Amino acid sequence: MEKKNELINGMCGVFDYIQKQETKIKDLKKTIEQLELKFNLLERDYNNLKEENEKLKEEDVIPPLSNVICVLCSRECENEYGNNAQPLVEGRCCDVCNEKKVIPMRVLQIRC
Ligand SMILES: [Zn+2]
Repeated sequence: MEKKNELINGMCGVFDYIQKQETKIKDLKKTIEQLELKFNLLERDYNNLKEENEKLKEEDVIPPLSNVICVLCSRECENEYGNNAQPLVEGRCCDVCNEKKVIPMRVLQIRC
């Protein structure tokens, strides 16, 4: 008789355990569903951003550096304004000529 009771108690324990595990599985399934929803939303956002990025790349036209030609070396100036080539010559010059020719000339003029 006692053995039978022990067996019944043991079985009840097993059923309890199975029920608890089933509850856990249900909770996990809910969590997975929520994560899948979140993932779908994030994937949609990602695709939208990717599309926008592609559009931006297409629209991205590289503007010309400058249309100003150096009066001293005939190269295109580094920026759209160039530098004042006075007192060497009249007009605009590039950064290189400004540094190597125009500025030394100004320094000389100040010294003389
Ligand atoms: Zn130059």
